[in-house]
Amino acid sequence: MSYGIRLRHSTLTNVMFTVPIPSIPFTVAQDKCPTCQVPHQVKTVHLWLDDVGSVIVSEGVLGTLNKAWPSELSAVNRVQTPPAQTITQSRNGHFEQKIQRARIQAWGV
Ligand SMILES: [Zn+2]
Repeated sequence: MSYGIRLRHSTLTNVMFTVPIPSIPFTVAQDKCPTCQVPHQVKTVHLWLDDVGSVIVSEGVLGTLNKAWPSELSAVNRVQTPPAQTITQSRNGHFEQKIQRARIQAWGV
């Protein structure tokens, strides 16, 4: 039976947090990511953090994250019946700006 793993970001909430995986480069440069509209050079995991900065991922996503684990993320617990992950609109309307900030944090710049 599949299960999810709840992760929590140390500071961010209500934002999409992207995690680039440098060890999985794209062979062809991406024009625009279908998920976040930003071109990625490498495989990138998109995490939609909720009100408390947590997100539930599958074992497969966890395995990918393990290749480039961001220090801001910690694994909280295992979830037996994970809800489907949905994309929600940012409440304050500054979604693009938040995406950019999340990318910068993900790179540690
Ligand atoms: Zn993206």
